[in-house]
Amino acid sequence: MSAGKKTELLEELKAHCVNCRACGLESTRTNVVFGKGDPDSDIMFIGEAPGEKEDLSGLPFVGAAGKLLDKYLGFIGLETDDVYIANVIKCRPPKNRDPLPEEEEKCIDFLRRQVAIIDPKIIVCLGRIAAAKIIKSDFRITAEHGKWFKKGNYYITAVYHPAALLRDPRKKEDMLLDFKKIGEMLASLGGADASEAEDK
Ligand code: URA
Repeated sequence: MSAGKKTELLEELKAHCVNCRACGLESTRTNVVFGKGDPDSDIMFIGEAPGEKEDLSGLPFVGAAGKLLDKYLGFIGLETDDVYIANVIKCRPPKNRDPLPEEEEKCIDFLRRQVAIIDPKIIVCLGRIAAAKIIKSDFRITAEHGKWFKKGNYYITAVYHPAALLRDPRKKEDMLLDFKKIGEMLASLGGADASEAEDK
């Protein structure tokens, strides 16, 4: 599918998403946070739910966690605009609480359709909550971050949520190793120029 067609289909899907009233979070959120980035990217990142800055701006990963994510993308030669970023749920839960299972269930179809339109080669889950929804329900982030799973056409992995690194900087070393593996996988699949990964 052409990049133009992908953009068009994502816009249509977003129009449905902004009118969604399925889970009740529309009554407390400011903006729907649908997704951002290159609709034709080979790599897609999936977080858990919008936080305060995201809710106010309508864009995912624009706060402190997003700045850290940008830094790790930079380590493997990518910029935010080279990838597509979305969340499991599109509306901010009050006080940033974890999404409820029923909110995830009501929202997950939007993500499924985003993935089908973008059709990336690689999906990277950011944190345990995204990994539990996308890879397997009992995903253990400490033991299983950086491992690869294959589902259909997609290579899927999970890394620590960038916010977890802000709380515990000791996780940064593992994060860098995981990103290097992501860069190598992307290069081996002939994806966006990730061949510049360097020792940092
Ligand atoms: N954390 C997330 O999981 N998603 C965002 O968009 C921002 C912070």
